[in-house]
Amino acid sequence: MTQTGRKNERTDTNKVTVLGARGSIPVSGTDFSVYGGATSCVLLEADTSVQEENRQQVIVFDAGSGILNLPKRVWKEHTTVHVLLSHFHLDHLMGIPMSPMLFDPSAEVIFYAEDFEGIPKVFQQMMAEPLWPVGPGVFKAKISYRLIAGRPIVLNQEQADQGTEVPLTVTAVPVIHPGGAQAFRVDWGTHSMVYATDCDPDEGNGRYLERFAADTDLLILDAQYTEEEYENCRGFGHPSMRTAAEVIEASGAARGLFFHHAPTHTDAQLKEMEETLQQYYQHISYAREGDVITLCKKIPYRKY
Ligand SMILES: [Zn+2]
Ligand SMILES: [Zn+2]
Repeated sequence: MTQTGRKNERTDTNKVTVLGARGSIPVSGTDFSVYGGATSCVLLEADTSVQEENRQQVIVFDAGSGILNLPKRVWKEHTTVHVLLSHFHLDHLMGIPMSPMLFDPSAEVIFYAEDFEGIPKVFQQMMAEPLWPVGPGVFKAKISYRLIAGRPIVLNQEQADQGTEVPLTVTAVPVIHPGGAQAFRVDWGTHSMVYATDCDPDEGNGRYLERFAADTDLLILDAQYTEEEYENCRGFGHPSMRTAAEVIEASGAARGLFFHHAPTHTDAQLKEMEETLQQYYQHISYAREGDVITLCKKIPYRKY
């Protein structure tokens, strides 16, 4: 096989899969079959290869009910699954008690958060009587917890030190949201993306997100409200769609993805809003559960 052939094989390996894009609470039914009803969860499969040997790292952003859509191959094929938790609101954790990955003894999972010591406590609280019949002791996966806040960390430090992989670097910043939350920027090789849900860039100095996501391949951004809804929901920690579009445009991100859809917004409403949006911003779309986005500035996303 030629080197070119190998490179071609790998062009598809930097990709993002939307496993759940709904905000606040899951929804179901025929009105939600296009954009989906599962709550926040996004998979990044990043090619960290150095030259010819094929290497990949996987990150899962948040553990909403969408984590039940995580393909089994993710934890079967990778030594470690890195799960970055933006914050502890229930819609971002509710997939934990039934996550098939956590019941598999072959899975090794590292959870990251600002309050990383609080993660097992929150799991314990969620999975306790009278809310849940069994505690997190039923999990069979190898689970650990690490701090992520402020300073960038390299998730594959050992491989990067050995020179077998390019570093996969994650930087966290606090965002404006009740109780606090973090947005994550990931950089590796020539690629980069930002996951920023549950944030209101119009509060405080929230527009720093524009710089945080500067020139990334993809910016996934909370866009929960219409302009009218936003006026009634100021302080809830979510932006209007116009603000979200402005932030994506100002960041210079190659693609934008609106995320954390309001549970009241049906497929018909989201489609109409998307058509209006794309009259002005062709590079922004509303995340659909099942979307696969190839991280390449020239290749548009496709549905799998
Ligand atoms: Zn949320
Ligand atoms: Zn929240």
